[in-house]
Amino acid sequence: MGKEKAIIIGAGIVGLSTAYYLHQRGVDVEIIDAGDGNNNCSFGNAGYISPSHLIPLASPGIISQGLRWMLNPESPFYIKPRLNADLIRWGWLFKKASTSARVNAAAPVLKDLMVKSQTLYEEIIRDENIQAGYDHSGLLMICKTKESLHHEKELVNMAKSFGLDAEILTREETEQLEPHVRYEMEGSVYFGCDAWMTPHIFMRQFQNRLQEVGVKISYGERLEELIKSEGQITEIVTSKGKHQADHFVITAGAWSPLLARQIGLRIPLQGGKGYSFMLTNPPKMTRLPSILVEGRLATTPMVDGLRFAGTMELSGINHDINQNRLNGIIKSIREFMPDFREVDFSDIKPWAGLRPCTPDGLPYIGNTKAARNLYVGTGHAMLGWTLGPATGLLIAEKITSKKMSIDSPLISVDRYA
Ligand SMILES: Cc1cc2nc3c(=O)[nH]c(=O)nc-3n(C[C@H](O)[C@H](O)[C@H](O)COP(=O)(O)OP(=O)(O)OC[C@H]3O[C@@H](n4cnc5c(N)ncnc54)[C@H](O)[C@@H]3O)c2cc1C
Repeated sequence: MGKEKAIIIGAGIVGLSTAYYLHQRGVDVEIIDAGDGNNNCSFGNAGYISPSHLIPLASPGIISQGLRWMLNPESPFYIKPRLNADLIRWGWLFKKASTSARVNAAAPVLKDLMVKSQTLYEEIIRDENIQAGYDHSGLLMICKTKESLHHEKELVNMAKSFGLDAEILTREETEQLEPHVRYEMEGSVYFGCDAWMTPHIFMRQFQNRLQEVGVKISYGERLEELIKSEGQITEIVTSKGKHQADHFVITAGAWSPLLARQIGLRIPLQGGKGYSFMLTNPPKMTRLPSILVEGRLATTPMVDGLRFAGTMELSGINHDINQNRLNGIIKSIREFMPDFREVDFSDIKPWAGLRPCTPDGLPYIGNTKAARNLYVGTGHAMLGWTLGPATGLLIAEKITSKKMSIDSPLISVDRYA
């Protein structure tokens, strides 16, 4: 009998990781991607591999905070008002999921996935000799006010209860850890459990390694139709032709629900747009990545510069850049980091990416009743870079041995079907 064949739709971190683990298990793998392999959400993100991010976006208090932010054009959160049935349903499910009970149920699942994924990254980097500035020295959450430092205590206690390395630092203690950069702050939280790297460099090297071992990646090829017969996908039609395989995997990020819908699979998901840009020659380089808490901004010292990332805009599937929000990011950085001047940002090249956001903040991972040989890996929202390898491994396990080593009804693909 010949090798089994899998076709993966989408070459972000989730698609590449799925290909990696399927190939290791002896499956013949082909990836198709509508883009050019240089610029999906997995390239311009903040690069955190952060088990500390235990609380999903849907959490108590987020809706009232979000409504306040909506009134400010420079704020880090925005929903474009529109009469769209999918958005309305998504919003209703989001509200339902924003409870303490739900957060408490989600946190252990997320923690297991994130810790596993961090270990997998370390293995991939070692085994494939990837040089992308991976560093496991931790992350700071910089709090400008006493109130937010106090608020972060809840997360610190939760992280500690899961055995993660987390501590509250005074201003002076933070300055000892980060002596080169001045922050306007009351203090910080240090998450020693977190790591970071330069995602666009990792992506390029990972693509190359996969192609070297025989995974075919076809860029500029768009999936147009999934053809189903007798309960399974028999064929797909793309912009370049028809393909057959034993297994099909949707890892198409924010576009995934549009593909799944063709065969009646409902996976509520909205694209959550975020922006980033790089200062290749910053006035000060941080030693550690940091989240500027009140500004909802991420800073990351990368191999080729200092990256800033932020905003969450639910404004449909587009990569338009809203100058007001970009101005808001720069203003916020300068309020936190007084060594950075307006002129330091004069040449920035803003980037936008779409986070695939589920209403409950948990991903869809595994198979579906909609078609026997169809698998889905998406919906990781702000945690997709962290969770890419674990998702790929679980899908590969499901395809080759029918069982995922981490599983929960909370990540089921069919939970909203
Ligand atoms: C500003 C910002 C900062 C972030 N920071 C972090 C962070 O620090 N840590 C973290 O864990 N996460 C972070 N994230 C989230 C993370 O980047 C995403 O969750 C993750 O990259 C999603 O990966 P993916 O593989 O699911 O999708 P993508 O990387 O979006 O890839 C999906 C691919 O599917 C392809 N595709 C779509 N439709 C089709 C079709 N019809 N046919 C063929 N191909 C198709 C697209 O071309 C694309 O290449 C951040 C996101 C943003 C925007």
